[in-house]
Amino acid sequence: MASRHEKDKAVNVQVLLRCRPFSDDELRNNAPQVITCNDFQREVAVSQSIAGKQIDRVFTFDKVFGPSAKQRDLYDQAVVPIVNEVLEGFNCTIFAYGQTGTGKTYTMEGECRRAKSGPKGQLPPDAGVIPRAVKQIFDTLESQNAEYSVKVTFLELYNEEITDLLAPEELSKIALEEKQKKPLPLMEDGKGGVLVRGLEEEIVTSADEIFSLLERGSAKRRTAETLLNKQSSRSHSLFSITIHIKEATPEGEELIKCGKLNLVDLAGSENISRSGAREGRAREAGEINKSLLTLGRVITALVEHLGHIPYRDSKLTRLLRDSLGGRTKTCIIATVSPSVHCLEETLSTLDYAHRAK
Ligand code: ADP
Ligand code: MG
Repeated sequence: MASRHEKDKAVNVQVLLRCRPFSDDELRNNAPQVITCNDFQREVAVSQSIAGKQIDRVFTFDKVFGPSAKQRDLYDQAVVPIVNEVLEGFNCTIFAYGQTGTGKTYTMEGECRRAKSGPKGQLPPDAGVIPRAVKQIFDTLESQNAEYSVKVTFLELYNEEITDLLAPEELSKIALEEKQKKPLPLMEDGKGGVLVRGLEEEIVTSADEIFSLLERGSAKRRTAETLLNKQSSRSHSLFSITIHIKEATPEGEELIKCGKLNLVDLAGSENISRSGAREGRAREAGEINKSLLTLGRVITALVEHLGHIPYRDSKLTRLLRDSLGGRTKTCIIATVSPSVHCLEETLSTLDYAHRAK
């Protein structure tokens, strides 16, 4: 029987593994497949012989989504219960972790628009976690007879500096040029939390409003990417939805439930695993991604119930402090490619994700 400690772990930090299908390029090059997913057994097997040495390893996760799993499968099986917790007034965080090109952004954002055709309110099949969560939240709130308010923020963290992805257009051009000089400051709010001074907090009243914000924010992320040399593989994006629901108790008292959902598209994991191998040089070049490294340490400290949780060591963990640990729920979606060419990074992603369990 699982010990109490084991049970606590299982409840609060969930680790999922998603393996994307082969890309057209990989198919054209007949890239050998080295990953086999068994969704039902929740297992991922890695098998390959390199220079006569055979690698055979099997990893177990809380859930496994092989190449044929659709956006909807992942959402329905893994995310619906988390969004329900948020609607009950808890803070939850979902991370996408993995090598660049393995499907983090596809998993989190996918297609963020409403479907152009089909029944009203439908999402396209490629819609990722963010649009689906937005839809679930508004569908639930609109079906309940309660007053509510919904607020969103969308920011990017690059080199430990915060940029607002929702800042109005005019401001953003300047902000982009001044990016290195004028990042938004992160400050203590005096109540144990933090706030980002100057960050746009948009109050939204419908899912459609969030969809247009998302398009604006993602477009800005792409612009920044071309201007600043593919920085996206080294930046994190954090989309947060905060919900307040006013409820009346049977005794007629008023109760306000407040829940927050954080959806994080992390920097490419190669930013820590490769630098790990040549740490000295990487540190000099400023290549070590402090937030990614610290996040790993914070999660390890949480699952191992260590006394000291190093939240303060990076901006990302400071931003997420009220949503990691305690009564919150955390879900890590680790993404990998099936191809032999990614084998080294895939093994380090599997190891990292497995340690978080
Ligand atoms: P990352 O954000 O990790 O760098 P992307 O999300 O940009 O990776 O994915 C790389 C490419 O692979 C994109 O063209 C994306 O559409 C495609 N892709 C990723 N995961 C899947 C999947 N599960 N099914 C279909 N296509 C996918
Ligand atoms: Mg991406």
